[in-house]
Amino acid sequence: MEDYLVKALAYNGQVRAYAVSTTETVGEAQRRHYTWPTASAALGRSMTAGVMLGAMLKGEEKLTIKIEGGGPLGVILVDANANGEVRGYVANPQTHFDLNEHGKLDVRRAVGTDGMLSIVKDIGLRDYFTGQVPLVSGELGEDFTYYLVTSEQVPSSVGVGVLVNPDNTILAAGGFIIQLMPGVEDETITAIEERLRTITPISKMIQQGLTPEQILDEVLGEGNVRLLEKLPVQFKCQCSRERISNTLVSLGKDEIQDMIDTDGQAEAHCHFCNETYHFTKEDLESLIKEL
Ligand SMILES: [Zn+2]
Repeated sequence: MEDYLVKALAYNGQVRAYAVSTTETVGEAQRRHYTWPTASAALGRSMTAGVMLGAMLKGEEKLTIKIEGGGPLGVILVDANANGEVRGYVANPQTHFDLNEHGKLDVRRAVGTDGMLSIVKDIGLRDYFTGQVPLVSGELGEDFTYYLVTSEQVPSSVGVGVLVNPDNTILAAGGFIIQLMPGVEDETITAIEERLRTITPISKMIQQGLTPEQILDEVLGEGNVRLLEKLPVQFKCQCSRERISNTLVSLGKDEIQDMIDTDGQAEAHCHFCNETYHFTKEDLESLIKEL
């Protein structure tokens, strides 16, 4: 089934909510980067949060998430936009540890807890918004919650989960974000806090195959949720052979000639999707002719 995201309001507009299925999206990242299970969970949780944060943007706005926790996984980078497109990678994709004491993938150990989560939002016209918080958990869901509460000052709760099959492929992935709107009533806050204490953990909801709509019903209570919009979600990189060609052309004739003379070819690698673009001597010569 294709991944999608739903946007919703709850409790008569006092609560804004997002939920998403990302099984295929995280699966594509796993296949492209050959991530091992703990790395898949860390990257998948980050991409799942990322695509929901992206869905909060408008038009051509986009954001980049960078998580550097000092752990063996190294940096996690995720890009997302308002159209449900997300891409991401981790510095050391072949990172895996034994399950933690709760029988879960030990994301905290892979990510580390000594570092920062930062988000840069490109809101157009060379205007950027940057927020940064220290990592408080390393399990990432709590870290995104802390980011939203502290840096964006929106009372929020983030739940993200990724389950991995024994052959390293992705069994299921998804998550939710709920946010309290200004002017929210005390009894709504109490009701939501009570629900969050007692709901099925997100990893369990994912395992049970709950749809984004069902996740919101579970988190906010059936009958409380008003769906606003549904958005398809996918792993999509912004790189292309044409873009790389343009970059090469922008280097100028001498630089390209130097590549021909030195290596007789050129190669460009995209970290985000792990694609390598190869340019032969003839390709490079035709680029020079274009100039
Ligand atoms: Zn790419």
